[in-house]
Amino acid sequence: MKLILLGAPGAGKGTQAEVICKHLGIPAISTGNILREALKSGTEMGLKAKAFMDAGQLVPDEIVIGIIKDRLAEEDCKNGFILDGFPRTLHQAEVLDEMLDRKGINLDAVIEIQVPDEIIMERILGRYACMKCGQGYHDKFQKPKVYGVCDVCGGTDFFRRVDDNKTTVQNRLVNYRALTYPTIPYYEKKGLLRCVDGTGTIEAVSNKVDSILGIK
Ligand code: ADP
Ligand code: ADP
Ligand code: ZN
Repeated sequence: MKLILLGAPGAGKGTQAEVICKHLGIPAISTGNILREALKSGTEMGLKAKAFMDAGQLVPDEIVIGIIKDRLAEEDCKNGFILDGFPRTLHQAEVLDEMLDRKGINLDAVIEIQVPDEIIMERILGRYACMKCGQGYHDKFQKPKVYGVCDVCGGTDFFRRVDDNKTTVQNRLVNYRALTYPTIPYYEKKGLLRCVDGTGTIEAVSNKVDSILGIK
């Protein structure tokens, strides 16, 4: 299965990508996570991306296209992949198509997770993750079973993203509308677009995604 998850920041792309990854055993690829890792390791790419990410602006196309090109060439993508956060511009979508065409790969679906802005803010401002394994949590909607202990790895250190603040989120929403939204009609025309109401619980949304994908 070759999938793209579209949706505003905080819509639940990463959360659903992880669930699909568990159900189907295909890698979830997040350009945001790869950029944050690059920044943590102090690579040139990470340093270049930092100012854009902190301001809630998109990182230049050539950087993220390079990331995806390298990542899709890895062995574990052979049987499928879930792209979370890429493409984010029409140009990225077109270049991805060329890349996949050359490999003889067809996308199976593009799932748009729809969530209104009022809910987005609450989701993003409550978001945090495990420092050790990256598992995502939320102050209200996705708490660890034991307070302060990661369900997945037992880690006790957590972090919040520096760009998960009100001003940056507002910029990210504006950019989503202006730059990412045009990819939706693009995939609709190709007959690939599937829309999911992302306002229910994580499990409810996941059930809807599973039924679109014909899982279960
Ligand atoms: P994205 O990858 O689209 O930016 P995330 O998957 O990181 O979004 O989700 C943002 C925050 O909202 C996280 O803290 C996550 O735990 C929480 N979340 C995700 N899906 C839901 C949902 N259906 N209901 C409530 N909270 C959710
Ligand atoms: P969210 O899902 O909350 O929007 P991500 O983790 O996907 O956040 O992305 C964080 C930041 O990384 C974005 O605000 C942007 O600066 C950069 N980024 C990630 N993916 C892309 C992309 N495909 N194109 C340009 N910038 C990107
Ligand atoms: Zn953990």
